[in-house]
Amino acid sequence: MIRMAGVDKFFGPLHVLKNVELEVPKGQVVVVLGPSGSGKSTLCRTINRLEPINSGTIEVDGQPLPAEGKDLARLRADVGMVFQSFNLFAHKSIVENVMLAPVKVRKTPAAEARKTAMELLERVGIATQADKFPAQLSGGQQQRAAIARALAMKPKVMLFDEPTSALDPEMVQEVLDVMTTLAKEGMTMLVVTHEMGFARKAADRVIFMADGEVVEDSAPEEFFSAPKSNRAKDFLGKIL
Ligand code: ATP
Ligand code: MG
Repeated sequence: MIRMAGVDKFFGPLHVLKNVELEVPKGQVVVVLGPSGSGKSTLCRTINRLEPINSGTIEVDGQPLPAEGKDLARLRADVGMVFQSFNLFAHKSIVENVMLAPVKVRKTPAAEARKTAMELLERVGIATQADKFPAQLSGGQQQRAAIARALAMKPKVMLFDEPTSALDPEMVQEVLDVMTTLAKEGMTMLVVTHEMGFARKAADRVIFMADGEVVEDSAPEEFFSAPKSNRAKDFLGKIL
């Protein structure tokens, strides 16, 4: 579903992705771990073209990444992204936030978009909050709204970049539960997270990045019990 081959990315002189090779087959959940600055967010952002790459190729569902235009809009619709900051529109209600892209981008009639939005809000457990504004919701509820909003476009892939890092501890689990359900339903997911419980339970694979390189790519139990590289051992030593 996602295929990256020989991907390099520079910010000026800084080489932030180094010859990255990564495949995420349909239905797999891949957790990306690594120290701060190792390139995890940049990796996510290149996949939906928020960041251009300097060399290599990235395909989503067999299609090479378009540079611009209509194809780019279609790619963005196929790749849902959830960030640490929820990025909801403050002046729209929760249900309007979820309806917006289907109506604007997919040209879905408003009544149908609203119905789907309500179903999605039900799924993430916040249907009763539909008519409130983002600021009236807790962080965990806002993040669940952001997930519903991404799902409203019926994406083929979901990218999560530290979706629980900005949340109060008591709200982390409700968001992870929604993500775990999505994973079980067969969504293809790439998840940057420091939640090791999620990585152990929900991931099919763990990718460990350091200094812009994919250093390890293994099953979670293998990664946590027998990391191969010293950099991964150091990292696990600090967080576990
Ligand atoms: P964190 O765990 O702190 O979120 P990360 O693994 O997500 O880190 P990235 O945000 O991908 O790391 O950053 C990788 C490197 O690229 C870092 O050295 C960072 O300073 C640099 N970088 C990221 N975005 C930019 C930018 N827009 N311009 C210049 N350098 C950038
Ligand atoms: Mg990051």
